Amino acid sequence: MSDKIPIVYLDGRFLPLDQARVSVMDRGFLFGDGVYEMMPVYGDRVFRLDEHLTRLARSLEAIDVPDPCSTGEWKSVVHELLEKNPAAGNRSIYIEVTRGTGDRNHIYESTRLKPTVFILCRSLAAVDYSGGVGAITHPDIRWDYCHIKAISLLPAVMLKQRASEAGCLEAILIRNGEVTEGAASNVFIVSDDRIMTPPRGNELLHGITRDLVIELLAGAGMACAETGVSERELRSADEIWITSSTMEVVPVVTLDGKKVGEGTPGPQWQRVRELYNAFKLKAPVAGVN
Ligand code: PMP
Repeated sequence: MSDKIPIVYLDGRFLPLDQARVSVMDRGFLFGDGVYEMMPVYGDRVFRLDEHLTRLARSLEAIDVPDPCSTGEWKSVVHELLEKNPAAGNRSIYIEVTRGTGDRNHIYESTRLKPTVFILCRSLAAVDYSGGVGAITHPDIRWDYCHIKAISLLPAVMLKQRASEAGCLEAILIRNGEVTEGAASNVFIVSDDRIMTPPRGNELLHGITRDLVIELLAGAGMACAETGVSERELRSADEIWITSSTMEVVPVVTLDGKKVGEGTPGPQWQRVRELYNAFKLKAPVAGVN
């Protein structure tokens, strides 16, 4: 797939990526006015497709954009796109929906706009994070609706860039002395054998991987408390994990240049990784309808 031009889906058509064009008057381009989803595809199986489509519908509703497709239509378009982009390894599916093309005016008339729908299928490079990664902490400079998976990602771009310039993978964000999430991930900590993650709310994205990890932990008798995590608890944690659909569950072994716990991936992370991998192997195939 890598040396061929991918086929993408744009507004009802399948076409080569280099022929896909969106108007410069698209509100996604002008205002970052849209939402998205990103999900991994293991072999032919779109991982947690139903959950991603449910969150997409919630994000669309939250920004007052009519859902352009039914669940069945989303699934069949995604599966058709996968068929058109065969690959030996794992892939990812990126769905973006913007409010559509119109005059450049902050105020929109939803009845006159047709949402723009773009879906991209790409190879998902296997990155081995099992040795652990570094993270920085940073004030959460984002807005108050972080539960919406908005394409307006400028703060996340700046935060990831700062992390990268510090030789780290992620920025863990602090708001009013409490951890919210990573710039592009959710955060778990282990403190004295207690596993904790900040609760669902508007300050963080309700991560599909976060929810799955909580479910897997519960199934294994390792309860995870959805509770506030203070900056102090973060800094003294025995383990820190970050989660996302494409990275899965990654151990953070340094925070602001200091060791987390022993400075190596911890035993609880090892366990959760086993649970996650086992689940991946037996995860059901999402049906087309
Ligand atoms: N928080 C933010 C801000 C993110 O961008 C992401 C990944 N897109 C996540 C959390 C993780 O979400 P998920 O597990 O659904 O990929």
